[in-house]
Amino acid sequence: MASEQSGSEERKDHLAGNDEKSISRSSALENFSFLKEVIRFDEETNEISAANTDWLILRGELLRELFDGFRRFLGREGANIAIKAAGKNSGRRFVDVLSQREIKLDEADMILSILLNQGGWGKVEMDIKRATKTANFSITNCVTARKIKSTEPSCYFLAGYFEGFCEKLFKVELECIETACEASGDLACEFQVKPKNASNS
Ligand SMILES: [Zn+2]
Repeated sequence: MASEQSGSEERKDHLAGNDEKSISRSSALENFSFLKEVIRFDEETNEISAANTDWLILRGELLRELFDGFRRFLGREGANIAIKAAGKNSGRRFVDVLSQREIKLDEADMILSILLNQGGWGKVEMDIKRATKTANFSITNCVTARKIKSTEPSCYFLAGYFEGFCEKLFKVELECIETACEASGDLACEFQVKPKNASNS
């Protein structure tokens, strides 16, 4: 977890230099540098590993095709439930990984922002309000909506991911709803996270 490295300044400038939010991002990069420093390719098993878990580089189209296949063969409603559940588990696991690396969870949102923004998921903005246990996420050019046309929001994996991520942070049962989606013609994919009881009232 030795995140303070001599090369951190150079890396920070390179990654955040042309971004208006470079100040807030740079502090998170120092904490997230563990990932860049521990990515390894095992030449015996051909496995990419980082932070004690396996990683994969794949085409965005493959992810969209996968979700589309689920909907065609399982039916839209059932597939969306399954996709959201998978996302939720993944979001929860991400917080577990941070915990295992002794990363402060009050910086988890910054780390998630870097992972999504630099990982190809789109331009992500997030507003996590710990006091009210609510959060808003906005993604433009979202990878799961890109090149998709739908009559309803379709980014169930990310909705589940944000739900699971925030549940682990807030330690309460939450619900995440995608209220706007680029796939259905909106300017951005918008996600609202709030306590489950509040959403039912
Ligand atoms: Zn969307």
